Amino acid sequence: MREANLTDTHCHLEFDQFEGDLGQVLKRAWQVGIVRLLTIGIDLESSQDTIEIAEKDDRIFAAVGIHPNSALNWNNQTKKQLEVLVEHPKVIALGEIGLDYYRDEVPREIQKEVFRIQLEIAYKHKIPVVIHTRNKSERDRKCIEDVLHIIGEFSNKFNNQKKQSIRKNRRGVLHSFSGNIQEANTAIEMGFYVGVSGPVTFKNAQNLRDVVSMLPLNRILIETDSPFLAPHPYRGKRNEPAYVIKVAKKIAEVYNLPVDNIYRETTRNANLLFHWSKIS
Ligand SMILES: [Zn+2]
Repeated sequence: MREANLTDTHCHLEFDQFEGDLGQVLKRAWQVGIVRLLTIGIDLESSQDTIEIAEKDDRIFAAVGIHPNSALNWNNQTKKQLEVLVEHPKVIALGEIGLDYYRDEVPREIQKEVFRIQLEIAYKHKIPVVIHTRNKSERDRKCIEDVLHIIGEFSNKFNNQKKQSIRKNRRGVLHSFSGNIQEANTAIEMGFYVGVSGPVTFKNAQNLRDVVSMLPLNRILIETDSPFLAPHPYRGKRNEPAYVIKVAKKIAEVYNLPVDNIYRETTRNANLLFHWSKIS
């Protein structure tokens, strides 16, 4: 099974749900053929924890950042502390950052400000971003609109800089994407990847599968968002990285391609976006 060559580009191994059996969870991940995992913080504390986990295994890397639902804790020190964390050799992305209008726990202006400051940090440190977006409802799409608008501002700024500090195709990923094809294309044109997760396997997710079928395969990343969003047939249970194989299999079905192609292509995409080793 090892030749599967899979990458889970989004999980939260530092969450309490894995406290008792992380070793077993990782063992199952390597058994199905996962070659790399990106574990992602949502606040300063969990960001520290992701680094600790990543330090213990060559195949695990860390992203650090303040999730929009944690944005109220942002203060003058947070930026400085994040800038220290991003210097760590196992930190290869900034995330998860973004906007959440579903929970709407934090005033939108604060969410946007914290998002923008973190985009600045990512550009300054030349690392890609992992972006969270959650609309209020299927019809109220203001959240993704605002996210696209803000990353658009940064793309323009970046395009105007003569010195290209980040290659255009290394800007980041819209993780666990649930938008429409126009929204996906807007992000792709700006150099972003689209993250596909467990919901693509759900019985009632034909819309999402239709969107995925229209995406260029060289712009797709696969992910679990463990411990959340477990794919069919584990829906509602704790998710874990090994289940990323279910996401890959569903994409293979949608594209009508051998699943090996999906493993290979999505891992190749992940390798292009994330510099797994900053010491090169
Ligand atoms: Zn997440």
